[in-house]
Amino acid sequence: MSSALMNARVAVIGGGWSGAAAAWHLHHARPGQGARWTWFETAPQLGGRARRLKPDSPLDNGQHIMIGAYRESLALIRSLRQAVLGEDEVRHPLFQRLPLTLLDPQGDGLVLPPGHPLLAFGRAMWSHPTWQLRDKLSLARWSVAQALRGFDCPPELSVDELCAGLTRTIRKELVEPLCVAALNTPSSQACAVTFLQVLKDGLFGGSGASDLLIPRVSLGAVLPEPLQHWCGQVQADLRLSTRVQSLSPPRQGQPWLVNGEPFDAVILACSAVEAARLCQDFAPDWARTAAQFRYEPIATAYFHAPVRKAWPAPMLALQETPECPAQFAFLLREHPLPPPWQAKGHQWFSLVASGASGWVHRGQDVLGKACIQQVQQQMRHLVATPQLQLAHLIVEKRATFRCTPMLDRPPSRIARGLWAAGDYVEGRYPATLEGAVRSGRAAASALIAELS
Ligand SMILES: Cc1cc2nc3c(=O)[nH]c(=O)nc-3n(C[C@H](O)[C@H](O)[C@H](O)COP(=O)(O)OP(=O)(O)OC[C@H]3O[C@@H](n4cnc5c(N)ncnc54)[C@H](O)[C@@H]3O)c2cc1C
Repeated sequence: MSSALMNARVAVIGGGWSGAAAAWHLHHARPGQGARWTWFETAPQLGGRARRLKPDSPLDNGQHIMIGAYRESLALIRSLRQAVLGEDEVRHPLFQRLPLTLLDPQGDGLVLPPGHPLLAFGRAMWSHPTWQLRDKLSLARWSVAQALRGFDCPPELSVDELCAGLTRTIRKELVEPLCVAALNTPSSQACAVTFLQVLKDGLFGGSGASDLLIPRVSLGAVLPEPLQHWCGQVQADLRLSTRVQSLSPPRQGQPWLVNGEPFDAVILACSAVEAARLCQDFAPDWARTAAQFRYEPIATAYFHAPVRKAWPAPMLALQETPECPAQFAFLLREHPLPPPWQAKGHQWFSLVASGASGWVHRGQDVLGKACIQQVQQQMRHLVATPQLQLAHLIVEKRATFRCTPMLDRPPSRIARGLWAAGDYVEGRYPATLEGAVRSGRAAASALIAELS
């Protein structure tokens, strides 16, 4: 290891999943050297957009799922939990893992059987109970055409344009829900290149790549809380509740200044808006690109009620209509409820409305009532609707950037000694946990290479 790297002081700004990956990789690049990095986070806890709602809550800031293809996030979670909790507790599964399943509340729909995702997809498609032969043929033809083109297409295409040859049923029941779940952008506006990339990773990413991973516990317990514990173990300089107000570039051989404090290098793992604010004076072009994103909200309605009968799957595809905002429902069977509700046999479940800008404009009250109505209309055979309780309605207005065609995403390198990490940074992933983790690791590796 070079002495420049051994002696360097590095600041990581932002404690979301990208900052977590950056801090973890910085630390492991210098084994035995102690923590020479300082980690700033505005909030009183780590986790950013993917964290526990409140310290004592079993729920999250918004319902999240992962897929088997999220290899770097899963590897980070595994390594961290091994370091903090030891081997045995790592065996306790944090996620409910199931093959890609798009069942409606009646139990009809797509279920991938075990095996290679591509073959499983073909079998699931042919055995689908309600699709007509012409639906299946259109999907088969389309899939072969995409595979022959290497899952690539002209950059200006939207997902709707890419899928124009598919039947209406396939677009409604498969493309639209997958698109909004993966890209949080309606298919009429979503980037076809990114959509194909997600499909390719799921279908060609090897065994288990398309599996759904639904957290059994709060996401806080999956990564941010063990991470905070680990920071204590390695005596990291973690500064929670500390917003970075100013970042000044090196002048005349001086180091970077973060809130006036000197650092040799900086990883900016905060939001694109904050990164643009901090860099606008010395990297105006980069800041302009980072500031131009448009965002899509995600609303999560957390309910509890007695469950009438077993759900066909823990994740159900709902019908989104002009009156019904949500595309998915999740049964959170293992999330504890306060004792009075537990005694009454209630269980948590959530409804998720992605790409929900239209609903957000109509206000939380209207949205909450629409979610209740959707449960009453589409799920009344699964939950006892007279006892239904809407416990929390969480609207994240800037949940993810709107993933549109030809989107200009800023590169990770901003200046010498300054690298950006975050789900918005240039890369082949949409705004996801995996995109964030990959960019954090990449920024740390690039910075280490620069200092070495
Ligand atoms: C409701 C919802 C549902 C989602 N569902 C999914 C899903 O199912 N699957 C999936 O893969 N992804 C999902 N996502 C997206 C995923 O949460 C994000 O892509 C990921 O968390 C982004 O991590 P990040 O580190 O890039 O950014 P963030 O999580 O935004 O982290 C940035 C951090 O920087 C801090 N910060 C900002 N400014 C400063 C400053 N000046 N000084 C110090 N700290 C600062 C912030 O407080 C924050 O903690 C969802 C997002 C939301 C909101």
